[in-house]
Amino acid sequence: MEYSKEILKTVKSESYVSPKVEKKYFGNKGYGLVAREFIKQGEIVSISGGLILTEEQHREIVELKGLGDYSYYIENGFLICPLNPEDPSDDWRMNHCCEPNCGVRGQIVFVAMKDIDIGEELTFDYAMTETNPEYSVDLHCTKETCRKKFTGNDWKNPSLQSKYKDHMSLYIQNKIKNNGK
Ligand SMILES: [Zn+2]
Repeated sequence: MEYSKEILKTVKSESYVSPKVEKKYFGNKGYGLVAREFIKQGEIVSISGGLILTEEQHREIVELKGLGDYSYYIENGFLICPLNPEDPSDDWRMNHCCEPNCGVRGQIVFVAMKDIDIGEELTFDYAMTETNPEYSVDLHCTKETCRKKFTGNDWKNPSLQSKYKDHMSLYIQNKIKNNGK
């Protein structure tokens, strides 16, 4: 049996964003997520949804068209990416910060690592999910500890591993345990 169209209409998105969180336009840095209410440490702030693709499918459907910016690995050989990479759902709008207030629990659940005040931007560290060695981007997070440049090899950095521990994606935690495999 399929879900009726009426029921599906009540589901606004393929993913989840806490009602305490909203998308905000920051101008030159684009969209981000901010807290519209106080968020307590440990609370779920978003759960990624979209397409689950094999590496090969991802290369053909997403990467070759230059639409891979939001994709990340959830397992060896498998990636998740937004249904619409040019206008992704709000869960995909969280920005990087080198001193983030959110982290990953499992592979697709994002939680507050500390209490987050109203109006504060929600951020995570790309090193928590990104393992594509060819990916790199300049960072402008204004923190003293800013690494200035992010690369898809940052997850290998021992100081980041011990800083984030189980807030690294489970996929990355397993990679670390298996010597990078
Ligand atoms: Zn930074």
